[in-house]
Amino acid sequence: MQPSAETVEVVASRLMEWYARHKRQFPWRVGMRDDWRVLVTAFLLRKTRAETVAKHYDRVLAALSSPEKVLELGVEGVEEVLKPLGLHRVRARQLYELAKALAEGRGGRLPGVGPYTEALVRCLSRGELVAAVDVNVHRVVARLFGVGDRRRVGELASQLVKAAGTCELNLAVMDLAALVCRARKPRCGECPLAAYCAHARTQRS
Ligand code: SF4
Repeated sequence: MQPSAETVEVVASRLMEWYARHKRQFPWRVGMRDDWRVLVTAFLLRKTRAETVAKHYDRVLAALSSPEKVLELGVEGVEEVLKPLGLHRVRARQLYELAKALAEGRGGRLPGVGPYTEALVRCLSRGELVAAVDVNVHRVVARLFGVGDRRRVGELASQLVKAAGTCELNLAVMDLAALVCRARKPRCGECPLAAYCAHARTQRS
């Protein structure tokens, strides 16, 4: 079902109000206006809990402050830096390949950078009004509007970002997914969007 423009606007506005009161505080959410910083953060957060990344974040970012620094350290040096986070071999190789591609000024898709990470860079580093849809954002939008199709979820997420007028809406959906609209047992009773949510409606009926 296509929600009306008014519904999309109200949902975006309710979500941003909720986010202002409940947003999670992470070190990478301060001063993100740098492509490299966003890329490294996205790599670190893959398959690792945000709280674990937060513990090591400042040290890792200081050590891997630029693509040049990563190339200088080499794969083994990067592995050492990433060791406490786990998956250090895979991540070190990926970051090294990425740093190499950037240093060589390669065009096209960067190694290890898919549509989600690219959207994060455009949003968080450059302030573009684009939706970044990972599995968690997909879950919230799909439940909210009663859709399952990936393309449709992407379109609706994009409409929400535009209605909010800020790509911070992506962070708001991520936080709602983590704190309220969890994969198992969503807390619909505490959700600011329950009145507009297709999933919550089916639970009530
Ligand atoms: S009402 Fe429930 S299912 Fe709907 S967005 Fe909120 S937590 Fe998720």
